[in-house]
Amino acid sequence: MVSVRLENIVKKFGNFTALDNVNLEIKDREFMALLGPSGSGKSTLLYTIAGIYKPTSGKVYFDDRDVTELPPKDRNVGLVFQNWALYPHMTVYKNIAFPLELRKVPREEIDKKVREVARMLHIDKLLDRYPWQLSGGQQQRVAIARALVKEPDVLLLDEPLSNLDALLRLEVRAELKRLQKELGITAVYVTHDQAEALAMADRIAVIKEGRILQVGTPDEVYYKPKYKFVGGFLGNPPMNFLEAKVEDGKLVITEESSIPIPRQYRGIIEKTGVKEVYIGFRPHDAEVEKGISQGIVGEVYSFEPLGREQIVTISINNSIVKVFAPEGEHFNFGEKVTIKVKEDLLVLFDKKTEKALE
Ligand code: ATP
Repeated sequence: MVSVRLENIVKKFGNFTALDNVNLEIKDREFMALLGPSGSGKSTLLYTIAGIYKPTSGKVYFDDRDVTELPPKDRNVGLVFQNWALYPHMTVYKNIAFPLELRKVPREEIDKKVREVARMLHIDKLLDRYPWQLSGGQQQRVAIARALVKEPDVLLLDEPLSNLDALLRLEVRAELKRLQKELGITAVYVTHDQAEALAMADRIAVIKEGRILQVGTPDEVYYKPKYKFVGGFLGNPPMNFLEAKVEDGKLVITEESSIPIPRQYRGIIEKTGVKEVYIGFRPHDAEVEKGISQGIVGEVYSFEPLGREQIVTISINNSIVKVFAPEGEHFNFGEKVTIKVKEDLLVLFDKKTEKALE
């Protein structure tokens, strides 16, 4: 197995910069998710690791080997795409065996490896079928088996589950995570689905417009976003943001709404002299109290029961925030409420740079 290191990677398509000085290290046996919106450069980065794209500048290392100039076939990577094109005229067995036949591996060895990987992915009963005789989830597993049979140093996956229905996605995602750890394989996984990244990855690299904004464990990117964008991209519902002015030791949101500057931010606000911020907090990190009191005052805009809890949507001037409340608590449309935010869990962002204060 290997680690992967990207150094100052720039990739241009004509005048357009798809990757803008990307630095990233993926550790041996790590599951790294590349997470970002459509067009942010995730696939371009994956293909750069695969060798399908050559960077305009910068270097790619596998361990200490500079592989920047090597074509995909000399990098020993396994690739799984969103449209997992299986060879339609070949059986499942043949599909999985194909990469080994290309390498002229002896027949008995091919047979052993195909059966082994098929067992691992629970497709050993399907080896005689053709792709059109398989469900989407089964085809998907065959594609993963075909990528794994070569015993690649790095497994690269580009939105491999996005063609599956919601339930099957959950099932395959749990299996894929287990398999990656069992095999001890280094994996890079492209997705725009934040829940998938949080659930599967050891670390997540959040990408926007060709730049990596933050790399961290799921906990780090979820609880300590370095940019407003990261807080707003992760979580369902995502982080809430309210604009506020810094005045006399307080964060003033509206005439009737303000909160004291949280202790952890007092020093940094004094030091930087920042005057305008976004207050960021997660929907689970606040409580809704009926009536007007000290805190963030708003009106109930809507409420949605979800079984054990409900999401209450509250309007505060021109902003909307979402907060979880226990089931059974009754709200009325337009009712005045006060949001009590857990001070130690809120995150402040400089309004100008949208960067977390730290
Ligand atoms: P998605 O989730 O939609 O697949 P992505 O984050 O994977 O998006 P990329 O496919 O890496 O995004 O594309 C990043 C940007 O580079 C996009 O704006 C895209 O239009 C552009 N791009 C990608 N490939 C090419 C190419 N071969 N020629 C020109 N522009 C390209």
